[in-house]
Amino acid sequence: MKMNTIAAIATAMSSSGIGIVRISGDEAFTIIDKIYRGKGKNSRKLSEAPSHTIHYGYIADGDEIIDEVLVMLMRGPKSFTAEDTVEIDCHGGVLITKKILETVLKYGARPAEPGEFTKRAFLNGRMDLAQAEAVIDVINSKNDYALKASVSQLDGAVSKAVKALREQIIFQIAFIESALDDPEHISLDGYGESLLSAIRGMKEGLWRLIRSADNGRVMTEGIKTVILGKPNAGKSSLMNVLVGEERAIVTDVAGTTRDTLEETIRLEDITLNVIDTAGIRDTDDIVEKIGVEKARNAADAADLIIYVVDGSCPLDGNDDEILDFIRERRAVVLLNKSDLTMEISAEMLASRTTHRVIAISAKERVGIENLEDEIKAMFYHGEIDFNDEVTITNVRHKNALEQAYRSLEMVEQSIENAMPEDFYSIDLMDAYEQLGLIIGEAVEDDLVNEIFSKFCMGK
Ligand code: GDP
Repeated sequence: MKMNTIAAIATAMSSSGIGIVRISGDEAFTIIDKIYRGKGKNSRKLSEAPSHTIHYGYIADGDEIIDEVLVMLMRGPKSFTAEDTVEIDCHGGVLITKKILETVLKYGARPAEPGEFTKRAFLNGRMDLAQAEAVIDVINSKNDYALKASVSQLDGAVSKAVKALREQIIFQIAFIESALDDPEHISLDGYGESLLSAIRGMKEGLWRLIRSADNGRVMTEGIKTVILGKPNAGKSSLMNVLVGEERAIVTDVAGTTRDTLEETIRLEDITLNVIDTAGIRDTDDIVEKIGVEKARNAADAADLIIYVVDGSCPLDGNDDEILDFIRERRAVVLLNKSDLTMEISAEMLASRTTHRVIAISAKERVGIENLEDEIKAMFYHGEIDFNDEVTITNVRHKNALEQAYRSLEMVEQSIENAMPEDFYSIDLMDAYEQLGLIIGEAVEDDLVNEIFSKFCMGK
């Protein structure tokens, strides 16, 4: 007989107040009948009890009583997995919870694989893939922002955005196919132009989602930051202030030498991973020591550039060069040494850059909160409204979105090169399928198995 009823401990393996053993599948009620003993007169079979009821009694293996429990009954499809589900609330503690699971297994269930409950919910159509993945993100969330993003995905925010894009794409494919089938009645004259403008709109939607993935990564991992500035501008002093009393955690980025150390700085809600390219703390001038080219590469890979200007000296050609370099990047300009007599005013500096200029004194620790507020505003748009805004936190989703974006670019090229219309539909179809991967439409078994294997037991 194929054992398709699964069971697992759904709570953490610790000495908590209660433990929960979850059973899901066709045999769930048969199994609970065999091991449940009602209290006193109230001892009817649970398989005959109404769905969504709670029962107080014992779990026993033959004559041996194991624990006093509450049993919750949920008949499919009205359960998380859409299957018959039984949850046993027992007294917490690793030993008892394990013993109850063993008894359940002895009477006909098999141990669930990691993520198998959620996988069944997905396979039974209770949720799409993006929502199922959000379940694991919720479980693993490390901070409030990450949690909010995951909960909003659980609610289907990503799926909704992706489905809307897919609808637009399939509409265009259907139009092309119909016109090719029935050229007498549907004309493709001038269609290229209208498709181009539709694609521009879709690309914009995709681009917003892809960009949000940077915010998603930033939420979960931290903001990759590079501090630039001429010698003596105050870069090390700034680092020391940011690090504060707490020692910075220095991590060696995998497989590299010491010229790519990262210092992790936590400022309340945000985390900065300052790429200490050549050891900002040890050298006078990062640009001078590692060369302009390398500094540029480091800055290119960064989410944020902090440019420190020494306000007590006049600007020179080097400043022009750096200001020019950071023009198109996410950056903040700090006018340092505000405690001294200043050669440069904040207004003057602001007129040279599109970025926010903040006057600080690293020495006197003045203006640092403004810097923190600005960074928060840049990355979290002040207060992220997760109801309106969809944030991609999953690398798999981001890759699929990027692929879809590239496919749409191919369509644009085909139109510009006046290729036949069936070329458009091929690339449109690719984009459609890539987006389908996010919500789990037409995904392959391997991918499904890989995704759910990342889950922990009992989920
Ligand atoms: P770096 O070369 O950019 O890392 O600059 P440092 O942080 O080593 O600072 C260079 C010099 O400027 C040191 O003597 C610091 O004490 C001084 N300095 C840094 N920030 C300030 C500031 O806000 N006010 C004043 N008065 N001096 C500062």
